[in-house]
Amino acid sequence: MSQSTWDAVDAYFADHLIPTDPALDAALATSEQAGLPAIAVSAGQGKLLNLLTRIAGASSVLEIGTLGGYSTIWLGKALPAGGTLVSLESDAKHAEVARGNVARAGLADVVDIRVGPALDTLPGLRDLAPFDLVFIDADKPNNPHYLNWALELTGIGSVIIVDNVVRGGSVADSGSTDAAVRGVRELTELIENEPRLDATALQTVGSKGYDGFAIALVTG
Ligand code: SAM
Repeated sequence: MSQSTWDAVDAYFADHLIPTDPALDAALATSEQAGLPAIAVSAGQGKLLNLLTRIAGASSVLEIGTLGGYSTIWLGKALPAGGTLVSLESDAKHAEVARGNVARAGLADVVDIRVGPALDTLPGLRDLAPFDLVFIDADKPNNPHYLNWALELTGIGSVIIVDNVVRGGSVADSGSTDAAVRGVRELTELIENEPRLDATALQTVGSKGYDGFAIALVTG
């Protein structure tokens, strides 16, 4: 299987299952124009986040890693009236682009984008806890810290989703010195040893290449 096959299959399912959304298309276009890296989730992955948020009945979401707000919009559109989403972003330019995109999507009153390293902004969220769903998609070496914060800021029944856990397959390399790989492996071992979490991880292929998600349910 090749990247071109994965692209074609993603396009096929997107054509049939994911209606065109001008706000999402504009978010990608303005992000590209502003020079942001093309590392947002794919349309299919964004729709998965949207569906998981609705399946969980989530009304409060925390995202770590906003970029241009593409996944933020997918998550925000899943919320019921009165729902809230806090998204944390360290790069002021990314946050500015994201705010424009979120406003264009009609979600300015729903989404609160906070600028700064997430480890600095997370402690300020205690008053907003518990979050029903947390999406972790920022700097991978800090994944273990983000998981611990997600545990602190959620409750029984909350869902924690972590993106990019496969690292091109390197996650299976116990000797890897790559900080991102080590971050994912440490995160996995934290989940393994955390009695309050029940989880799985799925490998994915598609327009974003070969990667995967971890999904955990807070059970205790
Ligand atoms: N979730 C976005 C989407 O799918 O549209 C993609 C997020 S991108 C993979 C990761 C983002 O995390 C980047 O915008 C980066 O600037 C941000 N980031 C990196 N380190 C961070 C940190 N320490 N705190 C908060 N955000 C950080």
